[in-house]
Amino acid sequence: MPFKDEIVAAVDRLSNTLSATSRFLHLHPELAYEERESARHLTSLLKAHDFQVIEGVGGLPTAFVARAGVEHPSATVAFLAEYDALPSLGHACGHNLIATSSIGAALALQPFLQALGGRVLVVGCPAEERGGGKIALVKAGLFANVDAALLVHPSNRTEVFKSALAMRALRVEFFGKASHAAAAPHLGINALDAMVLAFTNLNALRQQLRDDARIHGIITDGGRAPNIIPDYAAARFCIRSLDLDYLRHLYGRVVACFKAAATAAGAAVTIHDEGEEYHPMRCNRALGTIFRTNLEALGERVEQTSEDQDLGSTDVGNVSQVVPTIHPTIALTDQPDVVCHSDAFAEAAGGLSGDRAMLLAAKALAMTAVDLFTDPTARRHIQEEFGHQCQPSA
Ligand SMILES: [Zn+2]
Ligand SMILES: [Zn+2]
Repeated sequence: MPFKDEIVAAVDRLSNTLSATSRFLHLHPELAYEERESARHLTSLLKAHDFQVIEGVGGLPTAFVARAGVEHPSATVAFLAEYDALPSLGHACGHNLIATSSIGAALALQPFLQALGGRVLVVGCPAEERGGGKIALVKAGLFANVDAALLVHPSNRTEVFKSALAMRALRVEFFGKASHAAAAPHLGINALDAMVLAFTNLNALRQQLRDDARIHGIITDGGRAPNIIPDYAAARFCIRSLDLDYLRHLYGRVVACFKAAATAAGAAVTIHDEGEEYHPMRCNRALGTIFRTNLEALGERVEQTSEDQDLGSTDVGNVSQVVPTIHPTIALTDQPDVVCHSDAFAEAAGGLSGDRAMLLAAKALAMTAVDLFTDPTARRHIQEEFGHQCQPSA
């Protein structure tokens, strides 16, 4: 298709700009909700390419939407940009590449949108790693009238379809009473004991979980000195499952573990939700198949493994519940043991292998948008599949 060749060539012409943008983000890693420099850099680039940009959407100062295209499009395609980094590891999830590939696709398409009759959005999505910025954007209605949402995540494998676990994060605090641990232990209430019992309760619960469920946490506060009975202990946990109903059931079981632990230790307990509920991923197969064809046409080999294995959670899952969505991955290096959230992955994401994956992703994303703009049958298949999938329970 002639448009595709021209748009792939456009990505190549933009490669210096895109690499520089990716490297800038990589050198300025910013944590969830604090991505001010990153958002500014990305929106300036979009404005310079005649995108209409609205900053601070969905009540999130570092979120944005950039638009280009015709008034009455055949399709509106949203490319999702993530740009938050990880504490102490920097861009070890490669979100600098996600932002840049999504913007690269949009910039390459921009001059052709009149001829294609399409509209492109770049949705700047803060806080994927903690909190779930896209959930606020979904609630703000930013995906209304969008026909497809796409992004490419760097990974240790190139795959098109991958589930994601629904997740709730929470923080628990136990409150006891300090006392001299040797001279007057009988006058103390040991908040750390409550925490240890909570972990023991959860370990017992873990034996009875469904295979797809996960409960994991860390103790963030376990006392001040060994000779003081700890009057305060705190921890953070994640609860996950493929199934939203089961996740909600498990949440109740986890809360019961905390309350029982507090009762046993004589401590008080408070439980706080951290961030929003992440929903499971609903991969649109019709959309993914088009993406796969384009990716393979660019010479990339797809190694699809089981969809329900090696899963994490993402707020893209919430987007996938309201609009046909794909979240494919492209191998960042040729070493399968270089996995995300590691130093080696961070290094690769800021180097030549990151540039390669990012440019490849930008091309495949842009080519997929061309198919959506020009092929009504493909659009119908995507919509029919989305309509047939059941809605989540709330
Ligand atoms: Zn990550
Ligand atoms: Zn990530």
